[in-house]
Amino acid sequence: MTWAETVVIGGGPAGSAAACGLARSGRDVMLIERTAKPHHKVCGEFLSVETRMQLQRLGVDPLALGAVPIDHVAVHSSRRSVSSELPFRALSLSRYRLDDALLRCAQSTGARLNRNVTVKSVMQDASGWNVFCDNGNTIQCRHLVVATGKLGLRGIDDTRDGSMVGLKMHLRPSLEVHRALAGRVELFFLDGCYIGLELIEDGIANLCLVVPRATMARIGPGWHALHGHLASALPSLAERLAGAEPLWDKPMAVVCPAGGHLHREQKTAVFRVGDRLAHIPPFTGDGLAIALGTAALAVEHVRLGLSPEAYLAAARQLTASPIRLASVVSRLAMHRGGRNLMLGAAACAPGLIETIVRRTRLILAFDDS
Ligand SMILES: Cc1cc2nc3c(=O)[nH]c(=O)nc-3n(C[C@H](O)[C@H](O)[C@H](O)COP(=O)(O)OP(=O)(O)OC[C@H]3O[C@@H](n4cnc5c(N)ncnc54)[C@H](O)[C@@H]3O)c2cc1C
Repeated sequence: MTWAETVVIGGGPAGSAAACGLARSGRDVMLIERTAKPHHKVCGEFLSVETRMQLQRLGVDPLALGAVPIDHVAVHSSRRSVSSELPFRALSLSRYRLDDALLRCAQSTGARLNRNVTVKSVMQDASGWNVFCDNGNTIQCRHLVVATGKLGLRGIDDTRDGSMVGLKMHLRPSLEVHRALAGRVELFFLDGCYIGLELIEDGIANLCLVVPRATMARIGPGWHALHGHLASALPSLAERLAGAEPLWDKPMAVVCPAGGHLHREQKTAVFRVGDRLAHIPPFTGDGLAIALGTAALAVEHVRLGLSPEAYLAAARQLTASPIRLASVVSRLAMHRGGRNLMLGAAACAPGLIETIVRRTRLILAFDDS
């Protein structure tokens, strides 16, 4: 049996940021991560303005890790393309590098890191929480921060919609496409599905998409089948993928919900952060900002001795509005009529894309700037 004042379960961006913030303010914190070493994760790898600001506060510099700047967004359907300047400078960086840097940040500020350990279940008693690990260890703690991302935890979790699959493939683009993509994130919308494409470090391009699981079952496994499907549906994407060398045998995949989700009920006194608390449709590129923002909020609440209920109310206030708007936009954009209407309106009113980009950010970004 081991004791820690706070246990953080999950060493993704939310968990690492929470552990880092608590350790930095002199609190005793243990961070438990089930993977043994740095790894790739399904993600568009877009770092928005709020993500950048919060990384800066944590002392993590994405540019020093090889991140590249993004200033423009282009939105494509099979018939129309509209582009706009972003209202801020964004960056892109692989999760392989980002997540590892955040974990190291937590460790260097004094969090006790337990890697290659999976939490099997948790149980509350009169003095706090018991955390049961797969290595046979039990950790007792006063505060519990749950940062397990899309994975639930036995004993305390709600069930979620998992009707979509998120996929990611790293590619080496042709020189011509590399030049065309520099400084841009490109979004492609189809019925029921959307795709993001951008350069990350070392001249690699990241293709990331969200597709209904039923569609994926029809397309079949492997990069070849997926490439064929996307290229035939979207000529503008086919141009971008022409001559690109896939860097993996097959895309990575993860199950995810169709729209936004924001945890409501506080049946148990835990601090849920990141994706465990809230899921914003990925086209916004703002999930990381929510992960880091909710982690910072949880740290404040633990430090000030405020309850998980107070934290949940504050976190809902921070995230509800961008999640609501992003859910409406993603639903519209994945249907032909809605997509045509939105892209038609964006072509006539150039400020529309910028407004959607701004309003699907956490409030704190524009409060601080
Ligand atoms: C297709 C797609 C594209 C996206 N694109 C972007 C984007 O471009 N920009 C952006 O900002 N956001 C994007 N997001 C959202 C972003 O990826 C998430 O919001 C972010 O990863 C949430 O961080 P997290 O720390 O909450 O969870 P995660 O990153 O999932 O981390 C959870 C961690 O917990 C660990 N864990 C889980 N269970 C246990 C357990 N029982 N014991 C121990 N450890 C455990 C896991 O190994 C993992 O490391 C995208 C999401 C999807 C699905």
